[in-house]
Amino acid sequence: MSKVLIIGAGGVGRVVAHKCAQASDVFTAITLASRTESKCKAIAAEIEAPVATARVDADNVPELVELIRRERPRLVLNVALPYQDLTIMDACLETGVDYLDTANYEPRDTARFEYRWQWAYHDRFRAKGLMALLGSGFDPGVTNVYTAAAARRYLDEVQEIDIIDANAGSHGQPFATNFNPEINIREVTAPCRHWEDGRWVETGALATKRVFDFPAGIGPMNIYRMYHEEMESLVKHLPTIRKAQFWMTFSDNYLKHLEVLQNVGMTRIDEVEFQGQKIVPLQFLKALLPDPGSLGPLTKGRTCIGVVARGVKNGKKREVYLYNLCDHEKCYREVNSQAISYTTGVPAVVGAILMVTGAWRGEGVFNMEQFDPEPFLARLAEMGLPTEVVEREGWSGL
Ligand code: NDP
Repeated sequence: MSKVLIIGAGGVGRVVAHKCAQASDVFTAITLASRTESKCKAIAAEIEAPVATARVDADNVPELVELIRRERPRLVLNVALPYQDLTIMDACLETGVDYLDTANYEPRDTARFEYRWQWAYHDRFRAKGLMALLGSGFDPGVTNVYTAAAARRYLDEVQEIDIIDANAGSHGQPFATNFNPEINIREVTAPCRHWEDGRWVETGALATKRVFDFPAGIGPMNIYRMYHEEMESLVKHLPTIRKAQFWMTFSDNYLKHLEVLQNVGMTRIDEVEFQGQKIVPLQFLKALLPDPGSLGPLTKGRTCIGVVARGVKNGKKREVYLYNLCDHEKCYREVNSQAISYTTGVPAVVGAILMVTGAWRGEGVFNMEQFDPEPFLARLAEMGLPTEVVEREGWSGL
């Protein structure tokens, strides 16, 4: 009997609930809990298998503990917001339940993307014989597994990685983000950092631009360098990596809107006084922007997310590009969601399956690259996200 308790009923929570229901060989019962229970009920109504729902404030540890004691799940799958990671981990420790998430903890008042707060739980999880799996989305998540696969299957040593995330689709809106606008804009406007020769190098947000020729007819697109959390765990666990960079595509239109919003102060995350009330401008902006969940039926085109890993094989320079192509409209037909939420939710469920079945097991707090990539990639393909691989002699550069 493997019951899963999903926390968070947003875009990713919808995909996770659908996909857990599809994996009925592993999950024999599902509860979906979130701050607004009506959103859980709406998702449950889309799914043929029974999905129980509950209301919980995941900022509140006693409420979480009560819910987990009542539901008695085998695993808590956290797809609420990064602000809730630590409270949910605390509740899992108190109740003796395994934990999985898709994004590192962020304090509300500063946009910092670091694993140190969650890594600090390692000894406590280990002492209780529990497992926490961090960052089991696509990036972080599958990109970590791709890097591990490059190191094990294709190269004797990985020396450089470029993680490249393209949304080659379009939702036709003047300005909208593909996942939670607050989390997305905090990430995109943060200073860029990349890893080079054993240290982090800081540059301006989105200040470095290249053109990357994407496969499968997508063709050349502008990509911009930014910081992304998986680089921190990858350079720790794969210390042969001398250079790590993360790149994302942005349309000129997105960048134009973002620049104006920044210039007028709408992306600030500190409180300002407005008509006798304190508001956070970015949270106010989130209330005005389209709900990413509403973009599902409007979004067309594909995503292409992958890792170019460069290294050596048999003493010769070699490069491998592992990537996935995902079609927005196909995802929507399957689970009522666009590909951004789909590519996050499916790997979360695959990670959960491997934990529950014991294929990935450890005591403590882990990142994805610390486990064998093979069972993960096999199940990921079965569940809708196959991996494409291109190998080349020599190195290309970005
Ligand atoms: P949404 O904003 O669509 O959904 C978040 C959900 O969490 C909402 O249902 C929200 O409830 C709920 N929630 C927020 N605060 C609380 C709280 N205090 N207690 C209980 N529930 C709460 O976000 P997404 O679904 O787009 O993203 C979910 C997670 O996935 C985020 O952490 C995001 O960073 C991560 N992500 C990871 C990616 C990856 O590839 N690794 C890519 C994309 C996202 P309410 O509806 O009441 O606001």
